[in-house]
Amino acid sequence: MAFEYAPAPESRAVVDIAPSYGLFIDGEFRDASDGKVFKTLSPSSEEVLSEVAQGSAEDVDAAVKAARKAFEKWSALPGAERAKYLFRIARIIQERSRELAVLETLDNGKPIRETRDADLPLVAAHFFYYAGWADKLDHAGYGPNPKALGVAGQVIPWNFPLLMLAWKIAPALATGNTVVLKPAETTPLSALFFADICRQAGLPKGVVNIVTGDGSTGAALVEHPGVDKVAFTGSTAVGKAIARSVAGTDKKLTLELGGKGANIVFDDAPIDQAVEGIVNGIFFNQGQVCCAGSRLLVQESIQDELLDALKRRLSTLRLGDPLDKNTDIGAINSAEQLARIKALADSGEAEGAERWAPACELPSAGYWFAPTLFLNVTQAHRIAREEIFGPVLSVLTFRTPAEAVAKANNSQYGLSAGIWTEKGSRILSVANSLRAGVVWANTFNKFDPTSPFGGYKESGFGREGGRHGLEAYLDV
Ligand code: NAD
Repeated sequence: MAFEYAPAPESRAVVDIAPSYGLFIDGEFRDASDGKVFKTLSPSSEEVLSEVAQGSAEDVDAAVKAARKAFEKWSALPGAERAKYLFRIARIIQERSRELAVLETLDNGKPIRETRDADLPLVAAHFFYYAGWADKLDHAGYGPNPKALGVAGQVIPWNFPLLMLAWKIAPALATGNTVVLKPAETTPLSALFFADICRQAGLPKGVVNIVTGDGSTGAALVEHPGVDKVAFTGSTAVGKAIARSVAGTDKKLTLELGGKGANIVFDDAPIDQAVEGIVNGIFFNQGQVCCAGSRLLVQESIQDELLDALKRRLSTLRLGDPLDKNTDIGAINSAEQLARIKALADSGEAEGAERWAPACELPSAGYWFAPTLFLNVTQAHRIAREEIFGPVLSVLTFRTPAEAVAKANNSQYGLSAGIWTEKGSRILSVANSLRAGVVWANTFNKFDPTSPFGGYKESGFGREGGRHGLEAYLDV
């Protein structure tokens, strides 16, 4: 952006993208029952990458039936046998991680540095981690021989397509469930590659089924009477609709929804480290992260110093080709998402907040939004309350720890928060007062398969990851 650098593009030729993909049902790829397809494109160039089958209610039914049939044998396998498949899948993911990273970057728009260094290692780590649980479920704290639930219907978003798949599929399979998964309509490709990996790993037919399509395909899956457990990650609005449709059935439900994370910087925080954490908190994956630190709460006495350092740092971020290994800020995932970000940013200006962005040339094709700060934000502003899901940081100030906690908790959401201070005692007291599922101290956006993740309030319920993540797939 602000200075010259030598481009270092990753080769897109490492991945073979077919012109069309079918649904993965009962171990085979097949066309949609009504032959319908949709296009998936690269958000950084608007180039069509492939045509993908649009799953109908009939296709969902076939997938649920295949999963039901497979469940009897899969759930009866000794845990150590299920573990072998999961370990095999994890190893193949590692072996094919370059292909998968390039594919994810092409379909999603996020920088290759992130898919290569964050998404893919975490995807493999989740399969390794839950493979390790498969033969130790007696020790998970749910009594001897805990039973699988049956068929899990899983619906995931586009921001971490493969990682969300791993969060859902790895614990489901480890505990003996079978799966029908519906990826997001703008990022179906990595899930279809994963289907191929399941075949490569020799996973029995029907244990994993991937039905691509839009919200109507997702609704057909969630409403299918043959589904025993619904796991959803996505927007709070759709999560509420799903909760209504599941109410009155005996389906188990977990929801991972939106967020408006507060990143709280106290006056004794190491400023340079905090600046890196703030940047990572809101610009990682262009801010399209449910647990993004999208509200910066800075102690008034260090406001000027911190914001000067933050602006200098933003001026060094490189926005552009997501396949370039130097790129920090990639493309926004879709035209719709870009329009949502623009509308909310415009509301910030209209409501009187001060907008700041570094000088930044946006590519002519594709969907782009410059990293943006809003200063003088009040709690009443929409940009302080609503999830923007983009590279936009709302800056608020506070004077005392109590005021910081009150402002952080003043949200319909409760997914994540960050605390920056040298004082250990303050970390503990503030963390205990925050209504957030995950609280990071002197870091942000750190993930680990051993740690449970999930929200309070309208950020959803249930936990994914860690031992707690097993509970969602067991009859406990
Ligand atoms: P979305 O809710 O529009 O879509 C998510 C998924 O649900 C997609 O696969 C979509 O096709 C499907 N869907 C849409 N309507 C449906 C319906 N009526 N029934 C069943 N499925 C339906 O959300 P999005 O725009 O794709 O993702 C962004 C949102 O996801 C943000 O709000 C973000 O905070 C949230 N998110 C949360 C987490 C978390 O772990 N809490 C993680 C990632 C994203």
